Amino acid sequence: MSAELTQRLTAMPSRIADVEDRIVTACQKARRPREDVLLLAVTKTFPAEIVQEAYAAGMRHFGENYVQEFQAKRPLLVGLEGARYHLIGHLQSNKAAVASGLFDTIQTVDSAKLAQRLNAARQMLDVFLEVHLGGESSKSGAAPAEIPALIDAVRACPHLRLQGLMTIPPWSENAEISRPYFVQLRELAVKHRLAKLSMGMSNDFEVAIEEGATHIRVGTALFGRRSRKP
Ligand SMILES: *Cc1c(COP(=O)(O)O)cnc(C)c1O
Repeated sequence: MSAELTQRLTAMPSRIADVEDRIVTACQKARRPREDVLLLAVTKTFPAEIVQEAYAAGMRHFGENYVQEFQAKRPLLVGLEGARYHLIGHLQSNKAAVASGLFDTIQTVDSAKLAQRLNAARQMLDVFLEVHLGGESSKSGAAPAEIPALIDAVRACPHLRLQGLMTIPPWSENAEISRPYFVQLRELAVKHRLAKLSMGMSNDFEVAIEEGATHIRVGTALFGRRSRKP
């Protein structure tokens, strides 16, 4: 085992405890029950040992970004009963069939074509619509104006269960910069009567919890900095 991996595994228990403390404090401040917020452990770029150790420490929801990376990791994760895997990275429609066999939830549905490809794979999937709120054009995420049509498209898919909305605000060191994006996502979800909000990462999840996040996606704060792309 590499020294780097050993260090991450050693640091994990106290990092998990710190993240849990931050979640509890944010929930108290927001007057929300802790059970309202699901912590997704983002394990992209990390080896299967990290997922196994996080599972042993009580984590059950995992976020991965890359279909191929997770395809290689998945066989090493047999026997983790109750573990749930969420795709939180951009998904190309030509990988929809593979992704539907690997993940329980696809958080990045951003086109009707992708929804239809996922549906065609005939596996029941929970899905979130990824909304792009940053203004400038982006590779992933649907614009708010596209959401009504996208909701209709997903609701027409019998194998997809629409859960809610997901967004990734432009990265900033200052969590307050994310707040208006989180507010916008919540307002969009309320307008369309969607219950779940996936928003908030290591640097800004407290603000996301204050603004109604039901799913926070945390990597660095649990496992340390990622040193490489897969
Ligand atoms: C990598 C990633 C995260 C986790 O980011 P951290 O800053 O490491 O907590 C969350 N969401 C998405 C979509 C990501 O790609």
